[in-house]
Amino acid sequence: MYNPKIEKMPLEALRALQNERLSALVNRVYQTVRFYKKQFDQIGLHPADIRSVEDLHKIPFTKKSDLRANYPYQLFAKPMAEIRRIHASSGTTGKPTVVGYTQKDLDVFDEVVARSLYCAGARPGMKLHNAYGYGLFTGGLGMHGGATKLGMAVIPVSGGMTERQLTILQDFAPEVMCCTPSYAQTLSEEFAKRGIDTKDLAVKYAVLGAEPWTEAIRQQVEAGLQVDATNIYGLSEIIGPGVSQEDVEEKGTGSYIWEDHFFPEVVDKDTGLALPYGEEGVLVFTTLTKEAFPLLRYWTNDICSIYYDKNAKRTHIKMSPIKGRSDDMLIIRGVNLFHTQVEEVIHQIAFLSPNYRLIVEKKGAMDAVRVEVETSKEIDINNQDLINNLRQKIKDTIGLSMDIELKVPHSIPRSQGGKLSRILDKRGR
Ligand code: ADP
Repeated sequence: MYNPKIEKMPLEALRALQNERLSALVNRVYQTVRFYKKQFDQIGLHPADIRSVEDLHKIPFTKKSDLRANYPYQLFAKPMAEIRRIHASSGTTGKPTVVGYTQKDLDVFDEVVARSLYCAGARPGMKLHNAYGYGLFTGGLGMHGGATKLGMAVIPVSGGMTERQLTILQDFAPEVMCCTPSYAQTLSEEFAKRGIDTKDLAVKYAVLGAEPWTEAIRQQVEAGLQVDATNIYGLSEIIGPGVSQEDVEEKGTGSYIWEDHFFPEVVDKDTGLALPYGEEGVLVFTTLTKEAFPLLRYWTNDICSIYYDKNAKRTHIKMSPIKGRSDDMLIIRGVNLFHTQVEEVIHQIAFLSPNYRLIVEKKGAMDAVRVEVETSKEIDINNQDLINNLRQKIKDTIGLSMDIELKVPHSIPRSQGGKLSRILDKRGR
């Protein structure tokens, strides 16, 4: 463990620490961020009313629209003279949102990424092949700082230029790599295409995140690259990667949220009311220690559940894999749909690969989804049994009839280095 005192802190002590940090945070933002002062005053809430995490529900949510309305710097709680770095969200869903860090924020960022890397299997003395994009996106520099703090040698490859990635993975012999799961799929396929046996690579651990993924992709990447692949989650508004991380020895049980810094809630997406542990809803974070860009109850839009795992090594709460963003959720003939649900069904059927996309189009007046999915190479794409099987399984598990189109291997677009969109919406709205 990178920081056992914190990572194994008894829950009672962790709550006391969170409460103390929350009180200080609320006082701080009330005094320094006009947006929060106005928000509190409008509903007659006073910082003294927030004494523990139990009081959080009294505070309104902060949403992405609030960040946009205060673009670029109005939510900063520190003068520019104390800001040491500025990042922006990758703008997947519109205009980027701008975030700032003091030196202490950068130290916290390094700490949580170091914890995450350790949790994923990385150790001091190992080398990190960092294929997250460097730049405004928090992925590249975030992983870089945390790996340095852990005592690793960072190879700052950044995303893209796949040929070069393959050469570096072979020649520089990194033990750990990080990138998006879709790019890990690309890299694994490119090695296979060239007939390179990944057993000969030094890389043992892959830390994958920045987009939703399921066990289907984990299996493909683990087999293709011969690595242990774990999930890292984060978002620029909260800090960047390293908000949560899956332990390599606890794969499939969820990712630890470093809740000494990021206090999570899961709320109903329609009512905003807190949901019990284990129930799926919108993930909301309060940044307990951030100085430059603190957020109270930030509505991430990401759908998952949170729960304590009694069999886990650490005491911190876990989150399930993100199913998708609520603003990416498709509503098809009244049924809510995330692409990860289709991915899970594909995973259950032999001879299909998790290279797929959903095409959404109008069929007359109705919205319809067509699933394009690649088969493994020995299978004919007109195989009606396979088509029927997938269609039926989707109908049974998701409750929607979808058209199925089997495709030959390597015919569906791949990640070129970053996040991959698996939905093509042709409805032209
Ligand atoms: P943008 O919102 O523009 O994509 P970020 O680069 O900050 O900006 O991305 C953060 C978002 O990426 C998260 O809110 C979430 O939707 C997604 N994300 C990050 N890590 C994961 C992960 N491990 N699993 C699923 N989704 C993730």
